[in-house]
Amino acid sequence: MPLPEIVDCHTHTFFSDGEGTFEENVRAALAAGCTTLASTDHLTLPREMDPDCECSVPETDLNELRESFLNVQEQAAAGEFGEAGKHLELVYGFEADWYEGCEANIARWRGDAVFLLGSIHFIDGMAIDYDKEMDIWDDWGPDAVWRAYVERWCRACFCGRDGARPTNAPSSVDSSPARLDPSHAQSDPSRSHFDSSRARSNPSPAHFDPSRARFDSMAHPDLVKLFSSSGYAPSIPLEPLWDQMAEAAREAGVHVELSTAGLRKPCADFYPAAGLLERFQRAGVPLTVGSDGHTPGTICWEIKRAYAFAHAAGYRSIDAPTATGEWRTIAL
Ligand SMILES: [Zn+2]
Ligand SMILES: [Zn+2]
Repeated sequence: MPLPEIVDCHTHTFFSDGEGTFEENVRAALAAGCTTLASTDHLTLPREMDPDCECSVPETDLNELRESFLNVQEQAAAGEFGEAGKHLELVYGFEADWYEGCEANIARWRGDAVFLLGSIHFIDGMAIDYDKEMDIWDDWGPDAVWRAYVERWCRACFCGRDGARPTNAPSSVDSSPARLDPSHAQSDPSRSHFDSSRARSNPSPAHFDPSRARFDSMAHPDLVKLFSSSGYAPSIPLEPLWDQMAEAAREAGVHVELSTAGLRKPCADFYPAAGLLERFQRAGVPLTVGSDGHTPGTICWEIKRAYAFAHAAGYRSIDAPTATGEWRTIAL
């Protein structure tokens, strides 16, 4: 049986907190035999969340980022990276944080990106994955951080889908799942890619299309376990929280990501853990796969191992976005 093709749907460049250029990432991906590479730099954040743009793309750089991506896309199509580069699916995307009131910002700042990862890196403005800012962990304790994370993660699944309904909303209410429906992700040529005339900290929430804030896939679902082996392990059972997450993703009709990044971190595990991934699988939640590579050397890192992990959890296929925002399925 031929090995599944390598896809990486979560990568960063120097435009946010990564190190490589688009070109360097493309060359690294091709060297790894990659057929789909999604670029997902951290979308611009409100000033109060990232005052110095340490992790997100500055609003003023969004146009340059887009131009740079398009240039590399054209170079690849022209064969400047070799024959394999002509067939590399280069997907223009972002990784966007969910936070209260994020929808209008995301709808505006995403421009014509065709793929959106959704993430929870902050709870009430406090980072949960930054070892130099452990305030929330020390003040709240791991159990409270976990509960708050899962509550927000479940709401984030519904971002831009009938409003962010609370986790415990009656499941009898039809949320019109958009699973595998590419219509929400296609770019709208009538929109300019980015309106820089508006101030970064003064978004206009009126008259935006909420569906433009929909996340296509939820990145590193249990990122909150990052410090579990560093003295911040929760004491509560995780299974009920995992059940909530699987139910929210299923009901929202969102993909979830299987990420290899956790293997490089102190927690030394995939995101999500096997128990959570199995719940996603049983709930019929489709998968995307990504390295969350922040350097060219980690692009496509351990993707084959992720396929084996997904297979062991019961998955027989993964999904990948295309450059036009449609989806395709890859058998494992
Ligand atoms: Zn992330
Ligand atoms: Zn990332």
